[in-house]
Amino acid sequence: MKTYRIATIPGDGIGKEVVPAGQQVLEALAARSDTFRFEFENFDWGGDYYRRHGVMMPADGLDALRDKDAILFGSAGDPHIPDHITLWGLRLKICQGFDQYANVRPTRILPGIDAPLKRCKPADLDWVIVRENSEGEYAGIGGRAHQGHPIEVATDVSIMTRAGVERVLRFAFRLAQSRPRKLLTVITKSNAQRHAMVMWDEIAVQVSREFPDVKWDKELVDAATARMVNRPASLDTIVATNLHADILSDLAAALAGSLGIAPTANLDPERRYPSMFEPIHGSAFDIMGKGLANPVGTFWSVVMMLDHLGEADAAKSVMSAIEQVTANPSLHTGDLGGTATTTQVTDAVCKSIAAHSRSTLAT
Ligand code: NAD
Ligand code: MN
Repeated sequence: MKTYRIATIPGDGIGKEVVPAGQQVLEALAARSDTFRFEFENFDWGGDYYRRHGVMMPADGLDALRDKDAILFGSAGDPHIPDHITLWGLRLKICQGFDQYANVRPTRILPGIDAPLKRCKPADLDWVIVRENSEGEYAGIGGRAHQGHPIEVATDVSIMTRAGVERVLRFAFRLAQSRPRKLLTVITKSNAQRHAMVMWDEIAVQVSREFPDVKWDKELVDAATARMVNRPASLDTIVATNLHADILSDLAAALAGSLGIAPTANLDPERRYPSMFEPIHGSAFDIMGKGLANPVGTFWSVVMMLDHLGEADAAKSVMSAIEQVTANPSLHTGDLGGTATTTQVTDAVCKSIAAHSRSTLAT
């Protein structure tokens, strides 16, 4: 019996509601498996921890996570603490500390979801966005001086390294190659950003030569937003810089029906460190503490975690349980126009996982 050691970090806001729901789904899965089990360790880092200790996580926090097989994360963001403190003090500290340079964000229109694009059939929208997750616009380089004076100055410097660009583009080409259409769109802005983005384009040409069977094209990021809306079927795998992909993936999530559904994986593809899985949404201050959060983004993130752990069959069965539940509008949460609660959706997914296991045993 294999044991996977999972760190859970609910963080703030609805993260505290959806991460326990994700753990419940993993437990339902383990209950029917005789090949693997999970050992969870929960970390109470985030805004409340900050109020007690003045930091979002302890200085040696990464050491407590280092030997885990994976991390399930909720969200960082507290109404009473500035966003750059919560984000940099927790989520980015883990992403950067563990060099999780590939952020992978699949988007599909799940069964039963009423997506906003009226001419878009569910089959037309099946994307995976790869976001550069370690440098670029969010490298954290910059500074402020002369605060409060008329000569005040502030910079956020985008850093792109050949090594950083090569590794994320290579990851994206490889991912595109593994998908049926073998189609990659490289997002750029090399018309206006004439140094780093020009290097990005050049490296894309170089890396593409390693993948002769992958069809690829280049799209300016502003034009890409229109293409996502007008010609969704022309896209499959998409790779972009940290900032560009951050924005495009929220658009993608909205086009697929709701921010509450979308998952993400922060991967260290070399597996030197644990990778981190989380819904793409934030703390959702407007609904936190009410039991109304859609847990599907977390469940789909759990699917990505299982795939990363090499449990492809388990991943498939959680995904089909999710799809069974989204197909039923009476199990839609408020973000999807329904009235279901987090608990109702979670129970339905767990029940479907258990039922599936009984039917497998019966055959
Ligand atoms: P948000 O994702 O928290 O909320 C945006 C809107 O979507 C809200 O109306 C919210 O109710 C709704 N929504 C989001 N997830 C939902 C779910 N699972 N079910 C139902 N409705 C859902 O984004 P925001 O309002 O821009 O940010 C709030 C806080 O979260 C900020 O502090 C921000 O910095 C933080 N944040 C953190 C992360 C992260 O930790 N990865 C990501 C985004 C935002
Ligand atoms: Mn974002």
